[in-house]
Amino acid sequence: MDDKALIQVKNVRKVYRMGEEKVIALDDVSMDIYRGEIVCFLGTSGSGKSTFLNMVAGLEKPTRGEIIIGGIQVHKLDEEMVTLFRQKNIGFIFQSYNLLPMLTTLENITLPLIFRNVDKRRRTAMAKEAMKAVGLEGYERRRPTQMSGGQQQRVGIARAIVGHPKIIFADEPTGNLDSHTTKEVMEIIVKMVRENNQTLIIVTHDRTISEYADRVVTIQDGNILDIQVKNQNGGSNEQCQ
Ligand code: ADP
Ligand code: MG
Repeated sequence: MDDKALIQVKNVRKVYRMGEEKVIALDDVSMDIYRGEIVCFLGTSGSGKSTFLNMVAGLEKPTRGEIIIGGIQVHKLDEEMVTLFRQKNIGFIFQSYNLLPMLTTLENITLPLIFRNVDKRRRTAMAKEAMKAVGLEGYERRRPTQMSGGQQQRVGIARAIVGHPKIIFADEPTGNLDSHTTKEVMEIIVKMVRENNQTLIIVTHDRTISEYADRVVTIQDGNILDIQVKNQNGGSNEQCQ
């Protein structure tokens, strides 16, 4: 056991250039996140939450700074390597669910496994297990338009967890849901993450979400304003393999 964090974010800055204009989406963000932790980034619209998440997930490259996950320098990986890294280690939950409308629930959930070359029999078995975990048994053949927002987000959660990634990123996962469904969806996400000792980074403008986190990071104008510890035992110091 050592004290290395699973995710190390070091002096990350992101500047978008639009013609003459410069937008500093992230100014200078440093943060260590430990395995098994649930960390909530709280901030108003435009504070840099999505930019932060996309940067840590390797979807975008920082202008400056380092992102190290399980010892791997994610910011240095090329497109192909970062895609493989994401497929192996990261699950994503989106505000608007991002389900493919032509696909059934079962097909949407098995999609990440197809990219990982899991054979069909195993794909179906894993997807059914994930569906059971989120309470969607019997919905295999439904399409997204035939389901409520809460049900669609449960498909989104199942798709994020189906390959047992070490890290789950969620960008405003309850942004399109009412307060009752928000609670339901958050409880499912937290239960899954805890059971599988996964690490969850969730970004939101909704203060009620912070109740589910071990640490709450307030972000404003591209900087960390404050870090509040809610549950000391949330994460461990174990390094990822
Ligand atoms: P949040 O998710 O907290 O609402 P974002 O990370 O999406 O905030 O955006 C932070 C800032 O960066 C905003 O001012 C936004 O307009 C700007 N921004 C985000 N993405 C881009 C982009 N691709 N091009 C230019 N500006 C961007
Ligand atoms: Mg956002």
